[in-house]
Amino acid sequence: MRCRFCRTRSVEVFLRMYNLPLCRDHFISFFYKRIRETIEKYKMFGLEDKVVVAVSGGKDSLALALALKDLGYSVIGYFLDLGIPEGSAFARETVIRFGEKFSIPVHVEELRSVFGYSLVQISEIMRRPACSFCGTLKRYYMNRFARSIGADVLCTGHTMFDEATVLFSNVLQWKEEYLFRQLPVLPEEQGLTKKAKPLAFITERETAIYCFFKGIDYLDLPCPLSSGAKSRRVKLRLLQLEEDSPGTINRFLKGFYSFKKKINFSSFNKEDIQPCRECGYPTTADRFCSVCRMKRKLSENVSRG
Ligand code: AMP
Ligand code: ZN
Repeated sequence: MRCRFCRTRSVEVFLRMYNLPLCRDHFISFFYKRIRETIEKYKMFGLEDKVVVAVSGGKDSLALALALKDLGYSVIGYFLDLGIPEGSAFARETVIRFGEKFSIPVHVEELRSVFGYSLVQISEIMRRPACSFCGTLKRYYMNRFARSIGADVLCTGHTMFDEATVLFSNVLQWKEEYLFRQLPVLPEEQGLTKKAKPLAFITERETAIYCFFKGIDYLDLPCPLSSGAKSRRVKLRLLQLEEDSPGTINRFLKGFYSFKKKINFSSFNKEDIQPCRECGYPTTADRFCSVCRMKRKLSENVSRG
């Protein structure tokens, strides 16, 4: 079988979703084309913008950082070392080596230095699973970094099945507020840098193949602190649907976004947001944002012994 585009080279990748046999070079250009189309369609950012990519050391965010660089965007990586044993040190090495290999600046920050505690310490002191703080802290420090360097946009490596999993779970429970907010791009507002997910229509299989072709070494370990069992089960079911009928998940997600464009969401009252009195981060709470409240609670608990 020959590549659909050049008809000369032999096929290295078959994309069932598009019924498309591709050689290596045309896989890469097709991958880039779809990322660029997503960026343009959702008005995520332009070539003149300063783009921060939050890199975890996994295949998706590293693939995103290199793809954006190759597409001509100015990319700065950001990694938050959460201090997870058997995890963060490898991830940190991985992102640093990636930055050196591909000449992409990567800024590394340690949660313990900026927040005062590592994720494991927080979990021990608060006697709650680490996952209940992890997302909040990551979002907070990613945003803080992006603002500190005057970035125009902050990108994460969420892929099609991540987005479809969230959408499907929210539809099952009709979480209207979340459905209202789910979009591949969220505008800048009150202390928050614009956020974008340029891989919203790219699969993890594709980012893995791209990493292989480009020689990107990535970390392929599930987080040792979380089983993530529930969302993984939903994701596996969606993968099965896709397997039975290729293209289903792409249509599910694209359909949702175009449906949203047609609806008048004005009946949704946006919650009142104000800046945290301590750090200025936007919050719906009375005075302090969740990270500053967490910090206070931790120091109370520590001083009580
Ligand atoms: P996750 O929530 O772990 O599925 O990660 C989703 C996205 O968040 C990744 O694709 C990255 O863009 C970003 N991310 C996750 N962990 C980190 C980290 N430790 N430092 C910086 N960005 C991260
Ligand atoms: Zn705060």
